[in-house]
Amino acid sequence: MIGDIRKATAKIAERFKRRYYGRTFRCPVCHLELALVDVNGNRLMVCPVCGVVLDVEEVYGHTVPVVLDVEIHRPQPKTRIHPLATHIPIGLYPFAVLGAGLLAIASILGPAIPGLAPLVIRAPILADATLVLLVLSVGFSVVTFVSGLRDWYRRYRRRPYAQIRLKIVFSVIFLVLGGLAIALHASGAAFSATTGLVDLGSPLAIALAAAELGVLCAGMVVIATLGHVGGTLVFGR
Ligand SMILES: [Zn+2]
Repeated sequence: MIGDIRKATAKIAERFKRRYYGRTFRCPVCHLELALVDVNGNRLMVCPVCGVVLDVEEVYGHTVPVVLDVEIHRPQPKTRIHPLATHIPIGLYPFAVLGAGLLAIASILGPAIPGLAPLVIRAPILADATLVLLVLSVGFSVVTFVSGLRDWYRRYRRRPYAQIRLKIVFSVIFLVLGGLAIALHASGAAFSATTGLVDLGSPLAIALAAAELGVLCAGMVVIATLGHVGGTLVFGR
């Protein structure tokens, strides 16, 4: 079962990657997967991870990267704000999703299962904690985003890299989704401000709660992708 899910998600991720990166090749030094479209007009490219200067040749339809040089004088800030700041949104956001998920479970199953009574009683506290976690994770992601852009400007000299373009686009999507989830949650229209639960008698409250959960789950996929791609820019492969 878990193996099947892993296979299915790997297949979706691979298709997305092919579509987004186009043709790729591997850096012969650090093995990072690089997009062919990022090679400049002189067929040159600097690997963002190991800093080798590659001459990317096309030989009989095969991409052959040849190492020409190493970029030694590469700006490396002493305080690496981006990798530090990134752990706050990535660390807190899943707990906000978990909080909203537990509130949904308490709303639906609470009346039927007596064992869930402690969860139902504490639902207002859980709803508040979920909001705090959401605001902290989405708020801090602004710091992560700005410091990431700064690194791109300085360390990577604004060179085009498919990975960094993807991270910028996904960061904007995450901020929009996060802002939407905060607005939905804070309004109290999805999870009631007094009980912390979804009012199952109101179709609007059910629709808004479903929308909030959907937005939160989409945000989870986006932030996990951001973390994964960021990881490849640290470790290569
Ligand atoms: Zn490399």
